[in-house]
Amino acid sequence: MFFHRKELIRPVKVGTPNPKFGLYLLEQFGGATGELTAALQYWVQSFHVEDAGIRDMLQDIAIEEFGHLEMVGKLIMQHTSQKEHHKLHDVPLFALKGVGPHLVDSQGSAWTATYINEGGNVVRDLRANIASEAGARQTYEALIHQCDDDGTRKTLVHLLTREITHAQMFMKALDAMGKLTDPMFGTIEPDETVDVVFNLSQGEDMRGPWNTKPFEYIADPQPKGGMPPKTSNPDDEKSSSGAVAA
Ligand code: MN
Ligand code: MN
Repeated sequence: MFFHRKELIRPVKVGTPNPKFGLYLLEQFGGATGELTAALQYWVQSFHVEDAGIRDMLQDIAIEEFGHLEMVGKLIMQHTSQKEHHKLHDVPLFALKGVGPHLVDSQGSAWTATYINEGGNVVRDLRANIASEAGARQTYEALIHQCDDDGTRKTLVHLLTREITHAQMFMKALDAMGKLTDPMFGTIEPDETVDVVFNLSQGEDMRGPWNTKPFEYIADPQPKGGMPPKTSNPDDEKSSSGAVAA
């Protein structure tokens, strides 16, 4: 069951409307790192998560993200309001498609479900969510750098802040499962190369915690797979180039 309340969780009040900035804001409405992506990703994940606590967390955050979608939508609506209609010719997307938010990003590309990262295992999902929150936070930072309206900026700083909170919640949930620093999850045992790291980009080589003990560092990796079995393609061209083995 869903309820909707028309009051916003925090104020959304644009000082000086700017349809061009409205276009920027579409990135967080119908874009890859946007609020629709976040809301649907966490909500859909919640269906297949067995742990009741983590399911509840995902649902709480998903609904908050729908609230964020609403706030970004209200920002875009105010930036493209009728009063500013004369400025819309600067932004063909609003001039032709109409004022207010649309489910496209700042370049006009339609929102797509391929932005969503979910499926199969709660550890996999929570890790994907930390990456999603990082992407959303970074987009808000870029928007704030481009924003010269105090009212808009206040809302954007709040939205950026909440993504930090969500990332922390996902990290705490992983930590509670012992999976924040342990990369192993699932039911398949890895093979013997699990602690081996390869120096495959050679020159100016660096060492750090990612390639020192407990890792085994292979400074000069060599192929250990031999030649693959010969295969044939009956449809390929039958004339020969005349090449012979060296
Ligand atoms: Mn959000
Ligand atoms: Mn978030």
